Amino acid sequence: MAKNLFLLPGDGIGPEAMGEVRKIIAHMNDAMGADFALDEGLVGGCAYDAHGAAISEEDMAKAMAADAVLFGAVGGPKWDDVPYEVRPEAGLLRLRKDMELFANLRPAICYPALANASSLKPELVEGLDILIIRELTGGVYFGEPKTITDLGNGQKRAIDTQVYDTYEIERISSVAFEMARTRSNRVCSMEKRNVMKSGVLWNQVVTATHKEKYSDVKLDHMLADAGGMQLVRAPKQFDVIVTDNLFGDMLSDVAAMLTGSLGMLPSASLGAPDAKTGKRKALYEPVHGSAPDIAGKGIANPIAMIASFAMCLRYSFNMVKDADNLEKAIANVLDQGIRTGDIMADGARQVGTVEMGDAILKEFVSLSV
Ligand code: NAD
Repeated sequence: MAKNLFLLPGDGIGPEAMGEVRKIIAHMNDAMGADFALDEGLVGGCAYDAHGAAISEEDMAKAMAADAVLFGAVGGPKWDDVPYEVRPEAGLLRLRKDMELFANLRPAICYPALANASSLKPELVEGLDILIIRELTGGVYFGEPKTITDLGNGQKRAIDTQVYDTYEIERISSVAFEMARTRSNRVCSMEKRNVMKSGVLWNQVVTATHKEKYSDVKLDHMLADAGGMQLVRAPKQFDVIVTDNLFGDMLSDVAAMLTGSLGMLPSASLGAPDAKTGKRKALYEPVHGSAPDIAGKGIANPIAMIASFAMCLRYSFNMVKDADNLEKAIANVLDQGIRTGDIMADGARQVGTVEMGDAILKEFVSLSV
């Protein structure tokens, strides 16, 4: 059966980076019998220009029906003044909401060739390979009440509500345990049970889910603030970290920066398994934005986008060998000293987006025989 991929390249460097993924897909279809069926839509500013909305209903329906969505980036100064509800980011938020993508996966991988670019000592980050799983649709960003009230005495009161139900913690911790089984089989759950009731429940539910279904996986608990310290003290101690929306937002950015440039960071957002097919809705996207400062110049780093496609192969299609080969191809190209401007180093050869994509494809082809 064809594997249906829906591409949403978006704005700025999104289409340039997506172009390099398209070449890899074409090779996999032509030479490896991969049978990807591609469709493409508009999201963000370009969708606003075409339809007056950040994503059209037709493209939303295609995203909902696809086996996986590959998303580039949205936004740019051209759309700074469009109405709030149709701003470019609204397209991404709509996709996350309608597809019920509750699990955000952010790997932090430090390629040996880039260990010197980290703000930490190279020996602390070289070979780093951790996966942060952040709950994406609940917690304090969405909890009600969410208000600012005028108290009438010259003071105002702001309220955000941190709220989690059992099922939300069960499903995100299940994703973490399942991911750990495909890696080094260790999960560290982070919360603040010492000061937050939601942390107490989080801890209890993760522990119960582990006991019931995943006792083969090693589970540790850590307070989220201590976890932040450990991430910059000794990040290689972790395999999979699972945490809530707020802590995950911060900890995943901390972990990401251990590894260097924004142009290197992929991500995946997954929904619940379908009751009939067991397939999860999924969207894969680089962490970076549309980089308007370099858009159209042919110098963007396509690695985050290509690594997002590697995650898609791994998590949506179980094409583990191909995912491994694509990630290895990226590492090999970096080892050869081929770099885009954002990760340039002394003695390396600077290339543009297309040349970087070609070099990775060439390595991928030779690793795939
Ligand atoms: P950005 O990630 O677009 O860029 C930050 C800096 O990193 C820029 O100097 C950029 O040139 C550089 N950079 C980013 N990706 C790169 C790559 N692949 N190769 C080389 N250099 C790269 O963030 P920003 O400048 O804060 O935002 C620009 C626009 O993107 C804004 O409109 C913002 O709203 C939007 N944005 C979108 C997303 C998304 O689509 N998911 C995420 C963040 C920001």
